[in-house]
Amino acid sequence: MIPIEGNQLIGFKESGKGTEFFQSANPATGAPLPYHFAKATADELNHACEKASEAFQQYRKATGATKAAFLEAIAVEIKSLGNQLIEICNLETALPKPRLEGERDRTVNQLLMFAGMLREGSWVGARIDTANPARTPLPKPDLRTMHLGLGPVAVFGASNFPLAFSVAGGDTAAAFAAGCPVIVKVHEAHPATSELVGKAIVRAAKATDMPDGIFSLLHGNGNVTGIQLVKNRHIKAVGFTGSFTAGKALSDAAAQRHEPIPVYAEMGSINPVFILPRAMQATSQKIAQGFAASVTLGTGQFCTNPGLLVYEENEPGRTFQKYLTIEFGNISGGPMLTANILRSYTNAITRHITQGQMEVLARGKDDPTQNCALPILFKTTGAVFAEHPALAEEVFGPTSMIVSAASRNEVLSIARNLSGHLTATVHGTDEDLADYRELLDILEQKVGRVVINGFPTGVEVSHAMVHGGPYPATTDGRSTSVGTASIFRFTRAVCYQNMPQGHLPAELQDNNPLGIWRLLNGEQTRESVK
Ligand code: NAP
Repeated sequence: MIPIEGNQLIGFKESGKGTEFFQSANPATGAPLPYHFAKATADELNHACEKASEAFQQYRKATGATKAAFLEAIAVEIKSLGNQLIEICNLETALPKPRLEGERDRTVNQLLMFAGMLREGSWVGARIDTANPARTPLPKPDLRTMHLGLGPVAVFGASNFPLAFSVAGGDTAAAFAAGCPVIVKVHEAHPATSELVGKAIVRAAKATDMPDGIFSLLHGNGNVTGIQLVKNRHIKAVGFTGSFTAGKALSDAAAQRHEPIPVYAEMGSINPVFILPRAMQATSQKIAQGFAASVTLGTGQFCTNPGLLVYEENEPGRTFQKYLTIEFGNISGGPMLTANILRSYTNAITRHITQGQMEVLARGKDDPTQNCALPILFKTTGAVFAEHPALAEEVFGPTSMIVSAASRNEVLSIARNLSGHLTATVHGTDEDLADYRELLDILEQKVGRVVINGFPTGVEVSHAMVHGGPYPATTDGRSTSVGTASIFRFTRAVCYQNMPQGHLPAELQDNNPLGIWRLLNGEQTRESVK
């Protein structure tokens, strides 16, 4: 193992003024790794923010093609890190190498997807209402609108996606695509991985003539460095994935600023799954297999992990329960991402067990690896679930709770009492879905994505994806953190009234030099303004 001594990356320079240090550890063994990092000082953080603010004045005017070239260069640099990235990331997270290779591909592909969108150009949502000076009683002005970047964005790397939701992950790609510089607060669980990717971004920025300060990377504690970053006046928006406690703390800090800023925090979700009667009768074994696999995938460390399963108690339900118990009993536990995450998991499981209102339906196989989380499946009734709101809180890890409902009405009542989540899943035949149309109506008000006859884990990175949901799943349920629509978290619409042609952005000029789709006097077209 080659030792790493890491510093802050502030624009194109490294800075090592910090006097507090930390070291990464292997979560599978608890052993320290030879990767040491200094935590950022307040001066270093301020310097990074000032540089980002200066860089924004140049980068905000970059063309779509220029920004696309930057994102494509980052993708090339990440790929060229080769096995070293996978090896180090595996040591720091205990995530299996094939999973990390897949995550690296996803990271690269999402950068390229944003690049494609930028090259096409219509994402800016150009709208043009031409003037009518002859209108009475008042002349109509010429109005032209498009989306522009907000300014420097603070991104918090997630522990459970060390590549795809971290330094060069979805938040960073969306912010760069929007025309915003990025400052990343590294997650302490994978600092060496973060450093490698951070340096790849710096190389890509230099190679494509981006302004110094377009990217910085800082190490430090969330409640110190993280809060300072969110409070810095140059920061104009925040992207975060992690716990409710941290997301809420950052959101509150942003709201208390002299100039409050948006915080897009993706926090907890139990991703309820409902099985309707005919599907339960017809496909219960298949659903049991899929459900057990979805709950325990990646040792349950996915934000879309299904933590609640609801169905009506009857004979097919009891058969399903037998299948599920067998499936679950055959699944092994695995190491968790950090000792803290394992501690939270075991505390929550102990609370559930000692609370005494739930039956332990199945336990997975133990694994001798340190930091190992044991899969565990609970069961309770609809009545108990309704009486104990705490049972509806996320337990991050390979566990889920089955709630057997006494009737269709109880199923609907459980759905109505849910708070905001990222996803809800319904297994049903066409007839089931027609009978339970009311359930679908309830669920679309509770979540960002409704899944039919599938499982919520596995979030496609695409143009139509919504990975978000009403509070408390996120701090802003109007947005997505996955897919190209996430760009709109870091933009705002600006309207130009009677602006002379020469001063308009190319996207809004009469002759449509970029050939993009625009809403011209209420109609989508690529035509020029006549
Ligand atoms: P976390 O504790 O929320 O940490 C995420 C980031 O927030 C880290 O950079 C952390 O920095 C920072 N942070 C923590 N507390 C903060 C505070 N009070 N103020 C400001 N920043 C703060 O998440 P985690 O370490 O990844 O995992 C802990 C728990 O989060 C898990 O057990 C799970 O329940 C939940 N989680 C949920 C998801 C999801 O997608 N739903 C994903 C990951 C984790 P420091 O660590 O340096 O303080």
